[in-house]
Amino acid sequence: MEKIKMTTPLVEMDGDEMTRILWKMIKDELLLPYIDLKTEYYDLGLEHRNETDDQVTIDSAEATKKYGVAVKCATITPNAARMTEYNLKEMWKSPNGTIRAALDGTVFRAPIVVKGIEPCVRNWEKPITLARHAYGDVYKNTEIKVPGAGRAELVFTAEDGSEIRETIHNFAGSGILQGIHNTDESISSFAKACFNYALDTKQDLWFATKDTISKKYDHNFKDIFQDIYEKEYAGKFEKAGIEYFYTLIDDAVARVMKAKGGFIWACKNYDGDVMSDMVSSAFGSLAMMTSVLVSPSGVYEYEAAHGTVQRHYYKHLKGEETSTNSVATIFAWTGALRKRGELDSIPELVTFADKLEQATLQTIENGKMTKDLALITSLTDVTVLNSGNFIKAVRDTYEEL
Ligand code: NAP
Ligand code: MG
Repeated sequence: MEKIKMTTPLVEMDGDEMTRILWKMIKDELLLPYIDLKTEYYDLGLEHRNETDDQVTIDSAEATKKYGVAVKCATITPNAARMTEYNLKEMWKSPNGTIRAALDGTVFRAPIVVKGIEPCVRNWEKPITLARHAYGDVYKNTEIKVPGAGRAELVFTAEDGSEIRETIHNFAGSGILQGIHNTDESISSFAKACFNYALDTKQDLWFATKDTISKKYDHNFKDIFQDIYEKEYAGKFEKAGIEYFYTLIDDAVARVMKAKGGFIWACKNYDGDVMSDMVSSAFGSLAMMTSVLVSPSGVYEYEAAHGTVQRHYYKHLKGEETSTNSVATIFAWTGALRKRGELDSIPELVTFADKLEQATLQTIENGKMTKDLALITSLTDVTVLNSGNFIKAVRDTYEEL
């Protein structure tokens, strides 16, 4: 059979440790035999980031802006231990942080739903996608530990020197203070990314804040979303047969627990941090979670939600067998290939992505899976496969489809 041809390269960001091993296996077994794979390769492995003074990360983000679609392997975010382990010149920043800042994106995380791995919440039939605003609020705060009695004020000084001043509290004794902010520009980008993603995936969009209590701060989020929706998206949503729905955060939480799934839940930064961990663990496992960064200009970067699985890598280095789940990394590739296929009008590439995803899920449903899933599955006749043999089993299923 002739291999599928591509016209525009995917930006390929290689990574670290066990996921770097899986990356190569996936390419060799599942992609290269079927696709004339065209990528622009960036090695974001920690050694190469160190050699290039992290320039390679910046270059890969720039290439993503140029071509529009990237696929990223998990990477190490250095800490003190990594400084010695890799003999680093500097404690380089998180590549995800650098890429996110360059693309000004919103991160969408969705569970990969498969029969045999049931969510803890009985009525969740379809995935719930979490969209987290990744700028500001408590993540960029200023805090004071108030030592004793006194007045706390909130002051804004405009460029012309004029002031807005509000009393926060007259302290009778010691206490605490926190100053947070966000910008209209960042909130607008977040809103647009959510509306575009809802249209792209044909799912309803929910958004919630605490605007009844926070009448200026949270209300501003609500107003910006509503304004952009009415001006730019209401017609498109109606045409697509989907809905934008705003409610209070406590109402949203209650409704999510009773919903069937199949929608996008947009959250402010803190709500998204907390709720994405709740939703992902209720759906089963981090290794079954996709993650895509979408920029307001329509640039996409696909990755797995988990890290480099360091513990498994050390076993691998000792020559011991590993059973690391490659599903989320396979889906990062299929997500990127499908998007490339859609943008370049290559239907064979879209079909390939669909079929490879189907083969991956069917392999698990047939009882062949890695150890992490075997521990939580409701299936009874299960074969636990090692990292390489699971990928080979997916290939066998693909060949039979
Ligand atoms: P991790 O790679 O997510 O793994 C934590 C644990 O979760 C593993 O030890 C394993 O549990 C389980 N696990 C995660 N993914 C799995 C998979 N695909 N298959 C099977 N089990 C899986 O987190 P970490 O080990 O704490 O972090 C390692 C490195 O990843 C760090 O240097 C961190 O900076 C980086 N990181 C990168 C990203 C990213 O690039 N997106 C995200 C998070 C972390 P068991 O050991 O019990 O089997
Ligand atoms: Mg968290």
